[in-house]
Amino acid sequence: MTSSASAQPPSPPAPATDAGALGERVGVAVGWGGGTVIKPPFSPAASPVIDAAMVRALELARAAGAAGEVPVGAVVLSLEGAVLAEAANAREAEHDPTAHAEIRALRAAGAALGDSHLDGCTLVVTLEPCTMCAGAIVLARVARLVLGAWEPRTGACGSVRDVVRDARANHQVEVRAGLRAQESQDLLTASFADRR
Ligand SMILES: [Zn+2]
Repeated sequence: MTSSASAQPPSPPAPATDAGALGERVGVAVGWGGGTVIKPPFSPAASPVIDAAMVRALELARAAGAAGEVPVGAVVLSLEGAVLAEAANAREAEHDPTAHAEIRALRAAGAALGDSHLDGCTLVVTLEPCTMCAGAIVLARVARLVLGAWEPRTGACGSVRDVVRDARANHQVEVRAGLRAQESQDLLTASFADRR
């Protein structure tokens, strides 16, 4: 359920500066999430490339919502910031419980690269990924996840659990949250209201 997604992180983020360059990596920190440093919300000014990807992801989410899906959209950027793939949630259209925007975008990005590993890539998604998608993000070795709204009920990137920054896995993902969170939240709220 996505009706209660929030623009607020579930736990206070560690103070850090926000350089925002594509491909930038941060050091591993011990503490909440067990993985990379939690950075403050990503501002549109920090990276116009990532912000443009989020704007596109929101467009995809809006279209999906109009088609009766839960409105979630995702875009995969290469290390250089090129759009490799984009997708929206298509569970209802495809009668596929795994057809989340992130899974569909990762599959398309792998096909575009000709590689099952998306080293150096950034996944931009309008809502905090679920456990399934977070697992796929780790398997794909995505370098960075930029999410819009937090999903406090099912989110697996810092809310309910933190799959992408689990220090026990052989890959950890840098997470930035809160980019255009209110726009994502507004889509979800409108979608939920339409269903009642
Ligand atoms: Zn998912």
